[in-house]
Amino acid sequence: MKVNINQSVLELIEGDITEQDTDVIVNAANTSLLGGGGVDGAIHMAGGLKILEECKKLGGCPTGEARITTGGNLKAKYVIHTVGPIYHNGKSREAELLANAYKNSLNIASKHKLNSVAFPSISTGAYRYPIDEASKIALKTAVDYLKAHSEIKLVRFVLFGSKAYQAYEKTLRELLK
Ligand code: ADP
Repeated sequence: MKVNINQSVLELIEGDITEQDTDVIVNAANTSLLGGGGVDGAIHMAGGLKILEECKKLGGCPTGEARITTGGNLKAKYVIHTVGPIYHNGKSREAELLANAYKNSLNIASKHKLNSVAFPSISTGAYRYPIDEASKIALKTAVDYLKAHSEIKLVRFVLFGSKAYQAYEKTLRELLK
């Protein structure tokens, strides 16, 4: 699914984020930035050790913030590492922190003149954020950002599996009503 937001495109695809040819891909990292499982493990595996070497120099990243490194061997030139919240009960600022993870990632992309950005579904794996709720925050934050920032031409959500894709598609249709 692909929609226009002002002069930019918001796209949902089912796929693997490590294969994206956008200027930058976003990693759902943990606060250590020293690698983990899930999408983080896949990105480091595909991108090679140069990414981890740069991550080591960054000294971690607080939840909701973001940092940038090389893309190593990936097609994307850069990786933005952001840390989504661990979902507890929904009352521990999870929504605000998840929105911040997306916003701060997009701000870094803008600052580095990276026009196309691919995101995974942050926090909905090991961090257990319910995907219906998380997709609302992810997509609303992306739409609002694109409305205010014409320098970003493409935001692509790369959903891992058809269930995740369908959840995001349903939310985007609701959001655009
Ligand atoms: P978090 O700790 O933020 O929850 P995870 O990596 O556990 O991060 O999961 C985040 C989302 O990324 C999950 O929906 C998971 O299915 C998805 N994911 C895992 N591998 C990939 C991949 N290669 N490309 C895109 N998404 C992926």
